[in-house]
Parts: sequence; structure tokens; C-alpha cells
Amino acid sequence: MNYDVIIIGAGPGGIFSAYELTRKRPDLKVAVFEEGNPLEKRRCPIDGVKVRSCIRCRTCAIMNGFGGAGAFSDGKYNITNDFGGSLYEHIGKQQAIDLMKYVDEINVSHGGEGTRMYSTAGTQFKKLCIQNKLKLLDASVRHLGTDINYIVLGNLYNELKDKVDFFFRSPVEKLDILEGGGYRVTFRKDGQEEPAAVSARYCIVSVGRSGSKWMEKVCGELDIPTKSNRVDLGVRVELPAVIFSDLTDELYESKIVYRTEKFEDNVRTFCMNPNGIVVNENTNGIVTVNGHSFEDPEKKTENTNFALLVSKHFSVPFKDSNGYGESIARLSNMLGGGVIVQRFGDLVRGRRSNEKRIAEGLVTPTLAATPGDLSLVLPKRILDGIIEMIYALDKIAPGTANDDTLLYGVEVKFYNMEVELDENLETKYSGLYIIGDGSGVTHSLSHASASGIYVARRIAES
Ligand SMILES: Cc1cc2nc3c(=O)[nH]c(=O)nc-3n(C[C@H](O)[C@H](O)[C@H](O)COP(=O)(O)OP(=O)(O)OC[C@H]3O[C@@H](n4cnc5c(N)ncnc54)[C@H](O)[C@@H]3O)c2cc1C
Repeated sequence: MNYDVIIIGAGPGGIFSAYELTRKRPDLKVAVFEEGNPLEKRRCPIDGVKVRSCIRCRTCAIMNGFGGAGAFSDGKYNITNDFGGSLYEHIGKQQAIDLMKYVDEINVSHGGEGTRMYSTAGTQFKKLCIQNKLKLLDASVRHLGTDINYIVLGNLYNELKDKVDFFFRSPVEKLDILEGGGYRVTFRKDGQEEPAAVSARYCIVSVGRSGSKWMEKVCGELDIPTKSNRVDLGVRVELPAVIFSDLTDELYESKIVYRTEKFEDNVRTFCMNPNGIVVNENTNGIVTVNGHSFEDPEKKTENTNFALLVSKHFSVPFKDSNGYGESIARLSNMLGGGVIVQRFGDLVRGRRSNEKRIAEGLVTPTLAATPGDLSLVLPKRILDGIIEMIYALDKIAPGTANDDTLLYGVEVKFYNMEVELDENLETKYSGLYIIGDGSGVTHSLSHASASGIYVARRIAES
């Protein structure tokens, strides 16, 4: 064996596995394989001037590289079992919360000191929400902000780089089980013609959402059972920050759920970014929308953005929930060349937005998207739910349903298929662990990180 432990993927799941292994078992030889670049070399070419929209790079600087999909995120670490994944179903609610708190301590001690922890405990908004048919979910959230999140990642890398062998720009192509125990990974460094291979006793797979297709292939080859997961579809809303300031000043991010009258679907807010920016996201060549915000006051904008999402889960006869989401995102890319933006007033009047109407509006878009008509892209059931929820939110944050509120589409949250794992997050093969968003068990920074710590401890103990 070349190594004791091989970790595939240097997102939060992989990083926190490596961190905990080096603390608990410094004697172990650990290697991390990452498809993307080291943190400092991750640069998205979109500069808003020469390159205004996604040019579909070979590896996406936003999704791949040290820090994973979370590197340029808003760095909101939610400590809760109410959303962000179902880690607690495997390891128990208390342990899941304890591990998320431990991750928070590590973040705080690596550059996050001075950032604020927000909480829904005791807030008056719970009552206001319920009076208006909305439900505010319980959580504590540490908001690192994109800038501090980057600093924390840099500090973690500096601490790990002499203790762990990092292989960047080295996508793992194949994972094989060795006779007599252990695993071999075959990888291709920097697109070299000849692949190379190394082996280890233990293997932790943490490939995130961007590795979902690869994960599916590996599970197929190794005959690891999986089941289809849901897909979340919707839009990103952008409005003047002052409209949501009562909520965001107290809670920073509020996860609010609304049950629609027409279809009895749940629509929920997701990833709220006070004074933030709307950004493109590229998943396997499909351009969708996302958002983040900075802690640095100089980088704050006048706008707040958040997603409104509806979950869809297909089972029989059609099972491919992600495929459904992909098709809708492709449709928006076909019509808009990327992300489409529409004023709420235009949507409810049944007309497309154009450059002139957007320019005349009172909300200045923070993302250069194509003005268009979201009703030609999103299914009626989803769009009706989103419109209903915007009117419901207008009651707790008046102004949400203003004509000039901007809607960007589509926002899609793809969830990996759920891999069959035991209470140790171990597959049916001893020593092969699948963690983070790639396992379908987690969908957030804190849950993915906690799953990494958990598995590292299992390996350290054994
Ligand atoms: C713009 C944006 C903003 C977000 N904001 C938040 C937020 O504020 N709060 C929150 O909780 N969540 C947020 N998320 C989600 C969060 O980033 C993810 O839940 C989290 O990063 C998952 O961690 P992970 O380690 O499981 O996977 P990832 O972070 O996706 O990391 C997986 C890594 O594996 C690598 N990889 C994939 N396949 C291979 C392979 N075959 N070989 C080698 N390497 C491979 C990838 O390059 C990647 O670096 C955001 C996501 C995005 C895109």
C-alpha cells in the first residue's frame, strides 16, 4: 500500500476528514486527490467586462478545487438537523449537532473569529410567519462570508499541506477493490496521457455534486446500491436589501416554508444573501443561478438575494429527478444563452422582460443575465407556487411582491442519488466510506464537513 488513507475530493468533506485524521492519527499516511486547482489558482474567468457569462471551462473554478463547491460560497454554516442533509439518520441527532459545533470551533480558530453566529431561538418572526401561513425553521448559522471563508480555507490548507500529500488537477478515473483488502485509485495528473495508480487500506470518497456522474458510475461498477433523490427547482429573487432587513439583521438567513393553496406543494426560501450578489453556477456544462455575499462592508451591495425552490422527486416509472431538473435548466440556457432574468411585474402580467424595462426598474441587477420570460421555462405548477409564496412573503416583508423585484432562473439544486451506507457511512465494502454531498446524505457545508470528521474518527479508532 502507498497510503493508509486516500481521500477523493478536497471539498469540505475531504478537508475535514484530512484535518481530523492528522489530529487523531498523525502516524497515518494520507493522500488527497482533487480534480481542480489549489485554492490560490482558482479563478473564474467571468470579470463582467471581457467575459460576461460562463465559457464552460474544463474544470469549473467555482465548483472544483481546494475548498470544493463551498470555496466561493457565502460560508453560511447552519447548525441544524432541520435542513442541509439527513446525516442524523445515520449517526443520530445529538452527534450530528455536536460535530457541526466542532466544525464551527475549527472554522472560528482558523480565521473565523469575529464573525457572527445568528439564531432563530426566541425570535418574534416565528409568530409573524405562522400568522401568515409561513413556517420559520429552527437553526443557528455562522456567517463567515465569502472573504473570511476563503481565509479559513487558506489557513486549513497551510496547516495540512506538510502532513498530507495533495494531488491537484488529478481527477480520479477509477476506483478498484484489491484482493485481500484495500483500494486502488487510478488518476490522470494534469491531463497526462498515461494514468497513474496508488493504493491504500481505506478510501474516503467525497466528490460532491460536481462528482455526481462519476459517483454513479463507481456505484454501478462496484454494485453499491443507490436510490434516486429529489431535485429542487425554482428562481433566485433579488430585491432592495432594506425590504428584508428586519429579518436579515436579526437572523441573517431565514429558512421559511410555505404550503401552496393550489397544489399543496412546499415552497421554501434557500441560501439568503443580504447585501450580496447573484452569480452563475456551472454544473456539468449547465448554467444555473446561485448567490453569495461578502463580510467586507466595501463589497456589500444594495440588494439581498435568496432562492425560492420547490422539491420534485420522481420514482415510478420515471426515476431521474436530476434529469428532469437538467432538462428545465437546459431549456432556460437554450432560450437565454444562460440565466434568464425577469421582473416580477412582467411575470404576473404575462410578458417578457427586456433590457429597457430592467434598466428602468428600481432594482439594479447584480448579475448580467438575459431578460426573458420564465413562464416559458418553468412548469406552471412550480411557477404558480413561487408566485403564491412571493405574495405570502410580501405580508412579512412588504415590498417583496413589487413589480421591480427581479427573478433569475433557473435555480436548480441537484441532489446526488443516495448511496446505501451503514451507521458508519461505510459501504458494503469494509474501509470504503462515502461522505458529503456525493453520498446524497448531505447538502450543505456543515453537514458535509461533519460527515468528514465522523468518518475520520471511525478510521482513527479502527
Ligand atoms: C455558489 C455556492 C454557494 C453555496 N453556499 C452555501 C452556503 O452558504 N452554505 C451551505 O451550507 N452550503 C452552500 N453551498 C453548498 C456547499 O458548497 C456544499 O454543500 C458543500 O461544498 C459540499 O461539500 P462536499 O465536500 O461534499 O463537496 P464539494 O464541495 O462539491 O467538493 C467535492 C470536490 O471533489 C472534487 N471531485 C469531484 N470528482 C472528483 C474526482 N473524480 N476526482 C478528484 N476530485 C473530484 C471536486 O472538484 C470538488 O472540489 C453552496 C454551493 C455553491 C455552488
